[in-house]
Amino acid sequence: MSRIALVGGTVLTMDDDATVHANGYVVIDGDSIVEVGSGTPALRPDDEVVDTADQIVMPGLVDLHYHTAIGKGFSDHLPLWEYLDTAWYPLIRNLDADAAYWAAAASYLESIQCGVTTVNDMYRRLPDLARAARDIGIRAVLSNDVALEEHNIDKLDDNRAAYQEVHGLANGRVEVYVGIEWLPLADPELLQGARALANKLGTGIHIHLNESLTEVEDSKKRFGKRPTEVAYEAGILGPDCVAAHCVWLSDREIALMRETGTHISHNPSSNAKLGNGIARVPEMLAAGINVGLGHDAAECNNSRDLFEVMKFASVIHRANRVDSSLMPAPDVVRMATRNGSAALKHNTGQLTAGMKADVIVLDTQNPMFTPLIHGDANHIYSHIVYSANGSCVNSTIIDGSFVMRNRKLTFMDEKEIVRKANEGFQRVLKAVQANS
Ligand SMILES: [Zn+2]
Repeated sequence: MSRIALVGGTVLTMDDDATVHANGYVVIDGDSIVEVGSGTPALRPDDEVVDTADQIVMPGLVDLHYHTAIGKGFSDHLPLWEYLDTAWYPLIRNLDADAAYWAAAASYLESIQCGVTTVNDMYRRLPDLARAARDIGIRAVLSNDVALEEHNIDKLDDNRAAYQEVHGLANGRVEVYVGIEWLPLADPELLQGARALANKLGTGIHIHLNESLTEVEDSKKRFGKRPTEVAYEAGILGPDCVAAHCVWLSDREIALMRETGTHISHNPSSNAKLGNGIARVPEMLAAGINVGLGHDAAECNNSRDLFEVMKFASVIHRANRVDSSLMPAPDVVRMATRNGSAALKHNTGQLTAGMKADVIVLDTQNPMFTPLIHGDANHIYSHIVYSANGSCVNSTIIDGSFVMRNRKLTFMDEKEIVRKANEGFQRVLKAVQANS
């Protein structure tokens, strides 16, 4: 396979020094980045040279809290708990294998189109999701929706079986974590079981934690403690754990997250749409907690565009605290790239030699990037966070392969994905109605 050399663009490396090359290059060999710099690289005769003039070359985005989604645009005005009971759980309980595959493909399609190269996807039927990730080319960490048996979702045994079947698939692009739906559908014994399973498999944990005030009240009522305290005592927290949302953390809960090295996925647009509140992200960052960004699910966000999430992650805290100095654009881009990657222990999130080649190319010849001062890093970060959206993504490279090139999907047919995902939804909806 010939090497790929992206030359002539503005290269936003997101490396330790936040280096930006105004006229830079990135050379990819196999699944890895082998060279990054300014000017012209030493090319080999069979290198595939891609001209990225008037484009920004940057690390792919990491969507740190994600659910494959099948039916967005329904029950859009309900609070979280009622929404889950009336829309989300009935749909995922009636999911068939084909519907799961195409729902995942449609979800990953939108993400790839918006420059997302990694998803941390908690859902059901992981082998079908894994095949969709393999076929479309995305990097995916998958976990089950594990809850107590009476809730009729997934069990730890499902998660164990999924790990054994698909962990490591597609050159290691697919991994399996242990997932816990959320505390209202769990108890300390189930959390302890999830920790034991993760340790036994040597894998990580993905959990919804402290998402809503009703969750906090339910936890205090059932266990006499706040959600993060229950998770801490059950041993769930740790450097291999991604906790999603964490909206209503007390000072003590922030300290527990910090003490255990737990990673947090901040999902501001989902939290806003569901009326769940605004997470204390400035305090989390001040405490030294690693915080990445997630869209959550298209059912509770409606868009998988992580550019939109980046903008929310900055502006929502400024509005809330009446302080325009909060959450500056370079920090937010770092959250969407390096921080997400660090949470999943991936060798991605920055463009440096030796990293896996997860790279996106943004077009700047459009009003989103006008005017543009080439080489002015802060100006470019601002455009990415406050002005751009996913439609500026020209190409998405994952594990060294173009999975989308000039807006065209490489390995699957976009129209077929949309058609099959729609058919799958209709079938699942009929099953929901027949079984209700
Ligand atoms: Zn979620």
